[in-house]
This record gives sequence, C-alpha cells and structure tokens, in this order.
Amino acid sequence: MAASNLKQKIEKLMRRHLAQAVGYQPIEPLEILREDAGIPVEGVVKLDGNENPYGPSPRVAKALAKYPFYNIYPDPQQRQMRKALEEYVGIGAEHIVAGSGSDELIDLLLRLFLEPGDEVIICEPTFGMYHFSTEVCGGRVKDVPRDALYDMDVAAVKRGVGSNTKVIFITNPNNPTGNVTEEQAILELLDTGRLVVVDEAYYEFCKATVAPLVPKYENLVVLRTFSKWAGLAGLRLGYGIFPLKIAQYLLKIKPPYNINAAAQVAALESLKDTDYLLGTVEAIVAERERLYVKLKEVGFLKPCPSRGNFILCAVLEGDALDVHRRLRERGISVRYFDRPSLRSFIRISVGKPEHTDILIEALRDIGEKIHG
Ligand code: PMP
Repeated sequence: MAASNLKQKIEKLMRRHLAQAVGYQPIEPLEILREDAGIPVEGVVKLDGNENPYGPSPRVAKALAKYPFYNIYPDPQQRQMRKALEEYVGIGAEHIVAGSGSDELIDLLLRLFLEPGDEVIICEPTFGMYHFSTEVCGGRVKDVPRDALYDMDVAAVKRGVGSNTKVIFITNPNNPTGNVTEEQAILELLDTGRLVVVDEAYYEFCKATVAPLVPKYENLVVLRTFSKWAGLAGLRLGYGIFPLKIAQYLLKIKPPYNINAAAQVAALESLKDTDYLLGTVEAIVAERERLYVKLKEVGFLKPCPSRGNFILCAVLEGDALDVHRRLRERGISVRYFDRPSLRSFIRISVGKPEHTDILIEALRDIGEKIHG
C-alpha cells in the first residue's frame, strides 16, 4: 500500500478530535536556544519557563546520588510522599495526590470529569494546559475573558455555567498576567456546584491560598507544584489537595507509577530544606520588584504588576514577536504566545540580578533600534 494511503487510513482509525487537535505551544529546550544563538549553554539567559534560576536545594543532588532503590518500582499509593506533603501543607495525607507535574493532575481531573462535549470554563489569558487537556479529553473550552485589568469577570463566569459545564479553572496568581483572584470570588464560583480547580502553582511567591477550605467543600481542588519554588521543573512533581472522594478516584485512575523514584527523592529532600528554598523564593520576589521598575524605564514596555515569578509586558512600540526574536538572537529567551489575546505581549520570568541586567541592556538596545 502506498505510504500516503496508509497515512489516510491510520488517521481514520484515530479518535477524530485528537487527529485534528492543535497541540500545546511549548517553550524551546535549552540545547536549541544555545544552538540558535550560537553561544555556550552557560551564556543562555532563559527567562521563558518560569523556572527557578537558583535550581534545586543542594541537598537534592546528594540524595539522588545516594538513593539505592532505582531498580524498584515506586509506591503507587505514594504514602511517603503524601505524608511529607501533609506536614508541608497542613492538610491530611488522605486529601493529597501527587502527579508527574501538576500538568498530569489537570489531565487526570479532566479525564475523571469530562464526557465528550462537556464544557470547561477558563478565563483567558491564562495557562495553556487547561485548553490543551480539555481538548485531549474530548471536552469543549468556554472562554470567559478577563476584564481590562485581567480580573476574572465572576458574574460572566456564573452566567456562562450551563448544563454541560463540569469544571471551572482559576489560576492564582494567574499565569501570565500575575494577578490574584480574591477568595470571595472563588466562594461564589463554588456555589455553582461545578468542580472549581484553583491552580496555585505560584503559591510560594504570593502566599494566597484556599487550601484550608478544601476539606469543607466537595467541589474544590487546589493544585500545587515543585517546579517553581523548589526548582524541580525537570523532575516533574506536582500535587493536588482534593476532597476525599476525588482523591480516592484519582488514586484509582492514575497510572500506578506516575511519580518516579527520582522525583520523589528530590521532593522529599526539598521538604527537608524549605528554609533554603523559601530563601530563594524571597530573592526572586525582591528581584521581581527590581525588574518591574527597570522594565518600566525601558520605555516601550508596559509591565503588569505580578504576584508570581514572572512579569507580563505589553509591547507598546514595535512588534512583540520581533522583540522576542531580537532578544533570542542575543541568547535571551522570553515567552511569546501566539494567541489572539497575547500577540502584543511578552512574558519575562524573573531570573537572578545578573539576568535582569543583561536583559535590560538588551532591551534598551532594541528600543533604540525600534526608534531607528
Ligand atoms: N499551572 C500553572 C499556572 C503553570 O504556570 C504551570 C507551569 N508553567 C503549571 C501549572 C504546570 O506545572 P508543572 O511543572 O507542575 O506541571
């Protein structure tokens, strides 16, 4: 059979909505950035992934090197991990389930709740995985856009809830806009009876949380991650705080060995070194404020105040994609989103002070070129 015929046929066998899916727009890996800019990897200033520039706790590498049981499958019930998280979060282990990044928990929740065609409410601009995973799980996204200050329009979300609406995502603080949704708004949305997922991936940077409310509601979920504050994005460890019933269902439907031994060792060790890690969080928060002021001074950007480890900037003169490209040529990677609500923006993750200095110098130079 000719190769082209075979391709047509194989797609007919696939689930139609997946064969047509657009997919997630990921960031470029470090090696590609290095190759494109033609510089050594140490020279790349990577401010596109909201990663922690200070890396993991120094204790993590030692614990990983010493761990003797990589040949043994990890515990499908995640008992040790969940117990350690109970202490960190202050909520019983029976409410906690860990995943391969909080990305996996988003996917598992949607697998658990969505029938084909069911609706998920998101408020753009927001984190792209909600849209992506909803499509993969056969659901439909209903976007209720944020207002001019990027606050959620709670009344519009409530009006948007229909008979097929199963899930509402709230990102706190929101990625990429950096602002926080007040607890009162979350309580109002809980009253809709739909599953309300509050994504607190940046909790340690902003300290606002509704986690203590989870045991009181059947429909409130809080998601967290070790990717940002603990510098473990590459090892993939997220967790959620769930109502008891949902936690039990997730433990039943998740892949048995979804958190690998290395991720677990690293996370357990991180929880023994929170003073150090929260010290790096403080350094990042301080640097965020310095970066904000400097970005304002650049002249052609309008930074949004942020409670996360990133700052969204409107590009007031010139083209955001062009600014992104010019930075990249200099070995500096920031995030550009090819989405209607974000085409005139770039998002800049907060790095170390020296990263801010390199970035600002490059932006000044680009500003001069834009002005010609
Ligand atoms: N939620 C939000 C709001 C995020 O910004 C991110 C990471 N960019 C995640 C979840 C995913 O985190 P993880 O690395 O734990 O999958």
